[in-house]
Amino acid sequence: MPVRARMRRFEQALRERGLKSTSQRDDIARVFFAAASHLSIEELYRAVKKVNPRVGYATVYRTLKLLKEVGLAAERHFDDGQARFEPIEGENQQHDHIICERCGKIVEFASQELERLQERIGRFLGFTVGRHRMELYGICAACREGRGHEPRRERGVHRV
Ligand SMILES: [Zn+2]
Ligand SMILES: [Zn+2]
Repeated sequence: MPVRARMRRFEQALRERGLKSTSQRDDIARVFFAAASHLSIEELYRAVKKVNPRVGYATVYRTLKLLKEVGLAAERHFDDGQARFEPIEGENQQHDHIICERCGKIVEFASQELERLQERIGRFLGFTVGRHRMELYGICAACREGRGHEPRRERGVHRV
């Protein structure tokens, strides 16, 4: 979904809650939607600062919570204990994460095979599975080959 469409949804969600859109909130949301996924609050704060130096940390924090509440952001907690946020693309964009323990790179993937396996496990144990969360940890190719420090930015969900 393009940034502009997400902004419209954000503005609509604000209105539904009786909240005004402010230039600070808008700047934060815009930077969030356009940025790489899986930003910590601190990382988003620093990115927003470049656009609007008056934005405070607390406003970034509150806006992220708001984005989460209205279903435009998901909060993730990987092994490093940091809360990270990513824009939600929509229902069909369910994905899992594989994380490099050396450089911290986070890659997204989705697997139909995995979905099927989950359903099978659920059925076997008498459950209907609503959602799942999977995190794989390892060392990425760049780190293994000593290329290191590739951009952490990694866009899109890999179908595997
Ligand atoms: Zn790595
Ligand atoms: Zn993700």
